[in-house]
Amino acid sequence: MLASISLDLDNKWSYMKTHGDAGWESFPSYLELLVPRVLDLLDEFNLKITFFIVGQDAAIESNHRVLRQISLRGHEVGNHSFHHEPWLHLYDRQQVIEEFESSERAIQQATGETPQGFRGPGFSYSPTVLSVLRDRKYIYDCSTFPTFLGPLARMYYFLHSGLGRSERDKRKQLFGDWNAGFQSLRPYWWQINGTECVTSRSRSATGLLEIPVTTMPWLKVPIHLSYVMYLATYSKMIAKSYFYNAMRFCWINRVQPSLLLHPLDFLGCDDESDLSFFPGMSLRSHAKLNVAKDVLGWMSRKFQCVTMLEHAEAMGRDA
Ligand SMILES: [Zn+2]
Repeated sequence: MLASISLDLDNKWSYMKTHGDAGWESFPSYLELLVPRVLDLLDEFNLKITFFIVGQDAAIESNHRVLRQISLRGHEVGNHSFHHEPWLHLYDRQQVIEEFESSERAIQQATGETPQGFRGPGFSYSPTVLSVLRDRKYIYDCSTFPTFLGPLARMYYFLHSGLGRSERDKRKQLFGDWNAGFQSLRPYWWQINGTECVTSRSRSATGLLEIPVTTMPWLKVPIHLSYVMYLATYSKMIAKSYFYNAMRFCWINRVQPSLLLHPLDFLGCDDESDLSFFPGMSLRSHAKLNVAKDVLGWMSRKFQCVTMLEHAEAMGRDA
């Protein structure tokens, strides 16, 4: 069975910004450490994945060398917005267009590639974002996160942040509403008419393919690697069996999984001490890398692992 794998290349500053920490404006970065580490690990299992790059990082020239390695080593480059603001769904149409123009330009300059897929920061999207994506000829969006647990994740985040009322208001959709749990796990098309977006199982000229971030079939609880790492702080065995069972449920339900990775799945407290508010950051890097290797190795043996674009193209063939 086909499975796609992607990594949202959130940088240190973007976590600090969402969390409301001072100092993010100077764009502190861990890309120099992280990107080669992840690329080497993916090579071990012969995996090609999609990296969703933040335009602001691509606009900083000192990041170009390391970002260029992503495309040079055969991975797909996607767009993860310019400013990485999880309140993207509040932008008006002009702001959304500017966000795409600036991020596409920067990502193209840094990597030599034009992104054909998009994932919104903090799973944010809106009819305006989807219609701009369609107008800009994107092949797919993958910003939906079908889980009932979004509000719980948001509550955890707020509890561990020092955000004031107005900053919380901006982030009140972070990780989505509880009713996102009723969304489909299988890819579908958004039919876009003006500001109206409805979902459809069939493709049309006004459609945009949506590939949801896979959550556990039936229970709709998150299964991306950050959650597995969080469980691994209690027990590596429980964490891995949680993940493998979720993948087996996907197989039983004929859901082709789309697995989401994040930078902090590969960085431990010995690499990064300023992000200790993040779940799973009590683990050291070697412990996280062991879990990541087990999970990615298992995926590479059990599934035909492809990039998001290849997953989207396979959907197009099947439609
Ligand atoms: Zn992100």
